[in-house]
Amino acid sequence: MTIEVGADRKVSRRSFMKWSGIAGGSAALVATTAHLGMPGIGTAANSDGMLDAEQTVWSACLVNCGARCPLRFQVKDGTVARVLPDNTGGDEIGNHRIPACPRGRSIRQRIYSPDRIKKPLKRKPGTKRGDEQWEEISWEQALDEIAEKYQQLLADYGPESQFYAYATGVIAGTVSGSYYGGALQRLLKKMGGFLSYYGDYSTGGITEAMRVTLGGYIDSNSTDDLVNSKLYVLWGHSPMETKMCGGSEAFYAQKLIRDTNVRTIVVDPRHSDSVQLMADEHVALKPGTDAALIAGIAHVLISEDLHEQEFLDEYCVGFDESTLPEGAPENSSYRAYVMGDGPDGIEKTPEWASSVTGTPVDTIVKFARELGNNKPSMIHQGWGAQRCANGENQSRAIITLNAMLGNVGLPGGGAGTYPGSSAVTINSAFDADPNPVTKKISHFTWPDAIDHGAEMKGEDGVRDWDEDGNPIWDPQLEVPIKAIWAYGSNTLINQHSDINGTKELLRDDSKCELIVLCDNQMTSSAKFADYVLPGTSNAEEGDVVQQGLAANMGYSIVATKAIDPLYESKTIYEICTELARRLGIEEEFTEGKTQEDWARQIIEDSREANPGMPGYDELQEMGVWKVDNGARVALREFREDPEANPLDTPSGKIEIYSAEVARKAEEWNLPDGDVVTALPEQINTWEDFEAAKTNSEFPLQMISYHFKGRTHSSYGNVPWLKQAHRQVIWINPVDAKPRGIENGDEVIVYNGRGQTKVEAKVTPRIFPGVTTLPEGAWYNPDKDGVDQGGGPNVLTKYHPTALAKSNPQYTNLVEVKKA
Ligand code: SF4
Repeated sequence: MTIEVGADRKVSRRSFMKWSGIAGGSAALVATTAHLGMPGIGTAANSDGMLDAEQTVWSACLVNCGARCPLRFQVKDGTVARVLPDNTGGDEIGNHRIPACPRGRSIRQRIYSPDRIKKPLKRKPGTKRGDEQWEEISWEQALDEIAEKYQQLLADYGPESQFYAYATGVIAGTVSGSYYGGALQRLLKKMGGFLSYYGDYSTGGITEAMRVTLGGYIDSNSTDDLVNSKLYVLWGHSPMETKMCGGSEAFYAQKLIRDTNVRTIVVDPRHSDSVQLMADEHVALKPGTDAALIAGIAHVLISEDLHEQEFLDEYCVGFDESTLPEGAPENSSYRAYVMGDGPDGIEKTPEWASSVTGTPVDTIVKFARELGNNKPSMIHQGWGAQRCANGENQSRAIITLNAMLGNVGLPGGGAGTYPGSSAVTINSAFDADPNPVTKKISHFTWPDAIDHGAEMKGEDGVRDWDEDGNPIWDPQLEVPIKAIWAYGSNTLINQHSDINGTKELLRDDSKCELIVLCDNQMTSSAKFADYVLPGTSNAEEGDVVQQGLAANMGYSIVATKAIDPLYESKTIYEICTELARRLGIEEEFTEGKTQEDWARQIIEDSREANPGMPGYDELQEMGVWKVDNGARVALREFREDPEANPLDTPSGKIEIYSAEVARKAEEWNLPDGDVVTALPEQINTWEDFEAAKTNSEFPLQMISYHFKGRTHSSYGNVPWLKQAHRQVIWINPVDAKPRGIENGDEVIVYNGRGQTKVEAKVTPRIFPGVTTLPEGAWYNPDKDGVDQGGGPNVLTKYHPTALAKSNPQYTNLVEVKKA
């Protein structure tokens, strides 16, 4: 299905707003356009907004959308009375303003939410996790009991039994950070370490695809380099719904499309808001079929000699038989796969690709010719294509297509991966310790590690490295997970797959014996903890804020505490200090420093790496410091001299054929339906487009997408946002009609794993046979276990992907009926 955007639309798209106002919506209305001629350095002007505020302090939105928007909290009578956006910089990319999106602008409704956790809570003896039977206890009792149980588990099972849960609720904090390097990880490292993970729920598949193909995590050219591109392709990427602030792609990608008039194509099963607002053309396809579309495109490129053969010969492994690694079987090159000479004997013609993807043949041929005749093209791969059961191959195929076009290392081209950006380097002495536990599991397989951790090995996704940093081929866990430490984390229930199955596992406290969770909102994951500790919001503490994605502009923010902690909440630094005292390592943990002392030191330590970076006090005053680092051109050095600058792959080249994956395909015992392949082939898995054809019980594919009303589950309980962005399931009219479903009907979406109730949006904006639910809605079961929140994760399957052991949350079959 191709949706051409008509000429009128194109004109209107590129002239529909004044650019000084587009990025932050209402945010821009109160922002100044002042730029004092100090390149890259913003200034704070706290004289707007509520003029009788007692003070205005800088802070930021710390959640995991990819951006990190500065916020100014205006304080009156000890409360955050108003929230203002960034007012520094202008509209020029490199010193652009970062006005917050409506999520950050509504943060007062999170700070003062009725869902705030007010006191330490302990699960009542004799009840099960999730029963929501709590005793309110003192901090002393909570910390004493947690310390005692922790020490007992450490003595019985060792530090490998302690799992630090995936947690991005405070991703942008440094001392207060939840994702890596924050206070809780520091404490656990000082106590002997913890079991960590590789990959993440956002990028598990593409991270492995990049490791296998490019030798590591390599972002692509930054979007400001679009001025050098002849064609812009967003593949499974929708910045208009993920990062809508003024500092990120929602602003500068649109501005650059307008300024350069570059033709823009979006590939997505959904007619997303990015298609609506950015695209000249939408190439739609069934979920999980990107590798097939690319094989069809490759067939056209090869047949019409539109590919870059010289580049493939010099820089890549396995496009042709002549560049296959030693020991690879005959006819195992990508060319052989595409042209029908491979083991399956199928020629991947556009007609074949169309039969898999549902994309019309003409569209595939036209798309291929556009790519072949417009080099370099900037192909920005989002994280949608890889979040399915065969996601690693979808992602590897996109990187392969980019290599076939010779885009790599060129201005205007890229690596075929996620858009790159610049950063201010933050050197954190607070996070200097390595984790003594070197073994890791995938971010997604912690339920297996609870259930049968001591049986998990390499083929189950366990990884370990020797003293020289070389990977060990088949490491094994020695103990299961016996304790979970969760801070700013909602992945135990809400964000993980198969909520009903996970609940059953967590309710058995003979397996995982201790769950400690600290948050400032009573999330569904908190309901499954043994101890719930009330944490502060970011208005209640200061910190150094690590930046997000803003093209060529790096920035750093010093956040200041605006109000005293609400209720009995404490900062995570304070909580960990008190735990450290009970564990006998307080001095080692704090080194005699307060949280502010650490923040000051972090800024001082970072100044050397960032010429011109102001000191702490000046930064606190100015709030956000910006620096123009220039456009990023990924793999430029590799392109210029591949021998002097090899990739970190076994060959030093781009590995279209991976000997490592070929070996795993031979040696690993994988569950039914799991396949790994040396080439980025289209593979059929479980509950995919092919299975949908024959599954009469659950015949509809279901994918999710990132939603403007939430950042994952953060902000999911904010009334303003819930009103503005209603949770709905998209269903195509051809699927709605036979089910008697009309726009606005309440429906039940269900499969063998669960049911969720939600409103239907009947729309041609979703591919026929496919439905889509926004991720992150708060799980809210009724007495019969039917989720009333409309979230997807009662329907998603706990089945790690074959290669990365990642989350395949866009591979599901469901049925929909009127409620
Ligand atoms: S959710 Fe993201 S884009 Fe919105 S204000 Fe927060 S950091 Fe900015």
